Amino acid sequence: MIDLQPSITAIENLLRDGSEASLTYAALECRLAIERICYERLRIAHDYISNDDLKKWQPKDIVNVLIQEVDRNAAATFTYFISREPVPEGASPPTVEDFEQSEYIPFGTQIGFDPGELGKLWNALANLALHISIPETRDTPVTLYGEAERIRKKVSEALEEIKRISQGTLLATGLGEEVSFDCHCGTKNKRRLGLLKNGQTVSCINPGCDESYTYLEDTLEFGRRTLAIVCRRCGSQQDVPKKKVEKLPKDKRLYFSCEGCGEEISIEWRPMQGQKTNPLVASPESTPSP
Ligand SMILES: [Zn+2]
Ligand SMILES: [Zn+2]
Repeated sequence: MIDLQPSITAIENLLRDGSEASLTYAALECRLAIERICYERLRIAHDYISNDDLKKWQPKDIVNVLIQEVDRNAAATFTYFISREPVPEGASPPTVEDFEQSEYIPFGTQIGFDPGELGKLWNALANLALHISIPETRDTPVTLYGEAERIRKKVSEALEEIKRISQGTLLATGLGEEVSFDCHCGTKNKRRLGLLKNGQTVSCINPGCDESYTYLEDTLEFGRRTLAIVCRRCGSQQDVPKKKVEKLPKDKRLYFSCEGCGEEISIEWRPMQGQKTNPLVASPESTPSP
């Protein structure tokens, strides 16, 4: 759990000070706190998702991907309870009635939020406080700071939300059946079965690994995504991780040694022309008649 109290105290002190400079800094503190709230959820989800599968980087986008791919309840409010009595060892699996008869004590509460609304606050704070207005005419003054009252209102709104979220005592990565596979690099990857879609690309969670996999719903398998490169000298084939090639800038070459003969092989992106008519093959109609 992240401790939001230092941010809350700093924001309250800056609001009390109330100068234009302090309000501007308070807005920045609010934005940082919102980012911490969202990124902490990403951190604990990292056993289930790689940064390479996030695609978008605004705090709300990250949380939305977590909801779609890791845990439907990533931004929900709920409390976990734990049974006072453990299930006796060797006992038959408990029935629904057994569960209903058990006594439970609360274990922790996750406080949820609306990622869209939090994202709007994050954007509004920047628009009001971290930029000044563009002058519309020669007579419009270019100000030193944004409008103090509007900044104060938005900071107070953000502070309430940050305080509310700070009441949480638990962050969970969700429940539900897991599927796992061992990556080529040796890292064990796991995902929630209920959130996987057929044909979905899953990147290895090891940040130093370029492997990615295609999930196949029918067989519950993860197929390694590779490009088959055949050596022109010895004919041996090697499988280059597709993601390594996808990440390759257009003006760069990817070098590697042939596993068969050791010769250096390189690949690079090249534009390829596509056209319906192949101009090199003359069609009978276009052949001039004698
Ligand atoms: Zn890997
Ligand atoms: Zn070779």
